[in-house]
Amino acid sequence: MILDNIKIVENDIKNACERVNRAPKDITLIAVTKTIEAERINEALKSGIENIGENKVQEIMEKYDKIEYKPSWHLIGHLQTNKVKYIIDKVDLIHSLDSLKLAKEIDKRAGKINRVIDVLIQINIADENTKFGLSYKELDDFIIEVSAFENIRVQGLMAIVPYVTNPEEVRPYFRKMKEIFDGLEDSPYEKINMKYLSMGMTNDYQIAIEEGSNMVRIGTGIFGERYYSI
Ligand SMILES: *Cc1c(COP(=O)(O)O)cnc(C)c1O
Repeated sequence: MILDNIKIVENDIKNACERVNRAPKDITLIAVTKTIEAERINEALKSGIENIGENKVQEIMEKYDKIEYKPSWHLIGHLQTNKVKYIIDKVDLIHSLDSLKLAKEIDKRAGKINRVIDVLIQINIADENTKFGLSYKELDDFIIEVSAFENIRVQGLMAIVPYVTNPEEVRPYFRKMKEIFDGLEDSPYEKINMKYLSMGMTNDYQIAIEEGSNMVRIGTGIFGERYYSI
């Protein structure tokens, strides 16, 4: 079943790309594995998934040693400063950089293990009270400050848009994100690159791709409904 779902998602990615003349190979598919047990994650990896995304440090810790096939690990949820130390040697990309305080801690912990870690800056593009992320208005100042950290390399932006029944409604947010992303392309800072634009989940990834996303985070579409037992 997981394999079938992956095929459906990959096909939808291909179709979305065709509609706007993009190449499917330019889209990174992240299977979001929160609440999913290691065995089923391994099944997804066996079926060709190469990137997995977790939103909680605790879950990464619990599953890390049970995962086979050496995927890239993405931290996609809010990261508390006091938990950076647990994942700094485990994740390949942190999608949720949202404060200077967090940047400081990530820089410090990465430095301790001689690592330059890749991060995305999370933007609260719809200015929702319930969501983490910087306002895009704060972004320019934030980038100047983050560019000074030696052990952090910004590789792009991430956004979570409001959940709506009709995903067409969130198209303007994706479009706005792409504009911001493109506007930062010629950054003068060596450690600021705009390589990844992480946006789009099960409900809206096809629209996100049409609007320029190159990294989609799909949970339900691959594993089915989540059950929160923990
Ligand atoms: C859970 C989650 C997803 C995936 O959500 P689905 O709707 O199941 O695809 C994507 N991004 C983040 C940050 C998440 O927490």
